[in-house]
Amino acid sequence: MNEVLLINSSYQVLSRIEWQRAVSLVVTGEAETFEAHPTKVIHSQHLSIPLPKIIRMLAYVHIGFRPALDRQPTFAQIKLRDSRTCGYCGRHGDTIDHIIPQSKGGPNTWENLITSCRPCNNRKADRTPVQAGMKLLWLPRPVLPDTADQEYIWSVLANSAA
Ligand SMILES: [Zn+2]
Repeated sequence: MNEVLLINSSYQVLSRIEWQRAVSLVVTGEAETFEAHPTKVIHSQHLSIPLPKIIRMLAYVHIGFRPALDRQPTFAQIKLRDSRTCGYCGRHGDTIDHIIPQSKGGPNTWENLITSCRPCNNRKADRTPVQAGMKLLWLPRPVLPDTADQEYIWSVLANSAA
């Protein structure tokens, strides 16, 4: 479902997180909703809150903590980063491959996950690229905060101040 943009108390873009995590940050008072979905509402036992689109941390998160926030990308983020392109053959990819397989201790990190087409994913199976005789077309990297997201935040702030 929806991902939520997380911004710092200083309005700098931090990352995108799962909406469930965003809701729990709001409910526990660690973050406030900066922009909510116009119609969708989340109902829990005790309260109903509009589904957040953007949340803002109330305490400043030091940039040194950012890798921790960014550490575990979602599969949707990996596909977005790779433009749904297979990292092994360049064709359309709709699966996610662990470059170092999970069975060999490969983590769920930006650097170890890559979009893959089904044939390449099946061919590689439970092996490293070297073992499978397959080459990566590019080196997967962590995604930096989206400039468009940041520009959007500044524009909302500019308009609300006017
Ligand atoms: Zn492929």
